[in-house]
Amino acid sequence: MKISEILASRKPTLSFEVFPPKTSDSLESVTKAVERIAALKPSFMSVTYGAGGGTSLYTADISRSIQDDWNVPSLAHLTCVTSTRKTIHDQLDLLKKNRIENIMALRGDFPEGFDSSAPRDYHHASELIYDIKAYDPSFCIGAACYPEGHVETEHKSDDIRFLKEKVDAGVDFLTTQMFFDNNILYNFLYRAREAGIRVPVLAGIMPITQKRQLERARMMSGTYVPTRFLAIVDRFGDNPKAMRQAGIAYATDQIIDLIANGVEHIHVYTMNKPQVAAAICANLSEILS
Ligand code: FAD
Repeated sequence: MKISEILASRKPTLSFEVFPPKTSDSLESVTKAVERIAALKPSFMSVTYGAGGGTSLYTADISRSIQDDWNVPSLAHLTCVTSTRKTIHDQLDLLKKNRIENIMALRGDFPEGFDSSAPRDYHHASELIYDIKAYDPSFCIGAACYPEGHVETEHKSDDIRFLKEKVDAGVDFLTTQMFFDNNILYNFLYRAREAGIRVPVLAGIMPITQKRQLERARMMSGTYVPTRFLAIVDRFGDNPKAMRQAGIAYATDQIIDLIANGVEHIHVYTMNKPQVAAAICANLSEILS
């Protein structure tokens, strides 16, 4: 099923993100985690492509299994920064063969030592979006957006301008980078709407259940952490069980505030943790019903 159709139903949605294994050795444990998350019947599940050290080899297969074996719509991520047009075409063939209807089209991060000035086929996600549309206009396409601005962009106004160009290339919906202060999202949504961006925006929520997760998130995306949440991590960061409980409670609180303020679509970065996904589902059971 196309994600654009799910989002058009005007009901709140809760979707989960998983990532493929880093090596074939961990395929079995990742598959089990994905299955337990799929059994919670989220609105859809997304599968990353080479993010955070995960390999891109399994993205199409895991996406296929989620929709065929679990009857949960899936969204396969695809990045282009290190790809040629030929390899992207091959990936699209593979997704098509696996009957994947939804693609998250991304530029991807520059790998270490990558010469970003060397000639290459893709510079921005928008070029990938044009290529996907040319390959098969029936694909439903998602793209990333950054409420606090992308780390490489100097001015937020440029980021919104480039985002509008990206949406106009053929994007059906956007998913945000994680954020820990909902006011940042509300402000971003206002600026996006002012810029004429009308597609649905899914709020990306990362439940922080370990202290080092927050350190990594801040390092990678420079996300602002409110003092209220810093106090939680300071107090419970060295107690794994308490940190997990507090992190899930904080994420739940963020989600309830978002839904109460009309942000109907929530995408949770579950980091392959079924217990975290299950706890969030339980906390929202009446809110989402
Ligand atoms: P773009 O939209 O191309 O933007 C990248 C930068 O270029 C921005 O600073 C933008 O302002 C600028 N820009 C855009 N267009 C132009 C233009 N025409 N001229 C000049 N500058 C321009 N990474 C993975 O490797 N695998 C994943 O599965 C993955 N999933 C993600 C899911 C979500 C929801 C998010 C938010 C991020 C994800 N990422 C993933 C990380 C993403 O690949 C990086 O953040 C990457 O640095 C940017 O990708 P993008 O698609 O947003 O790029």
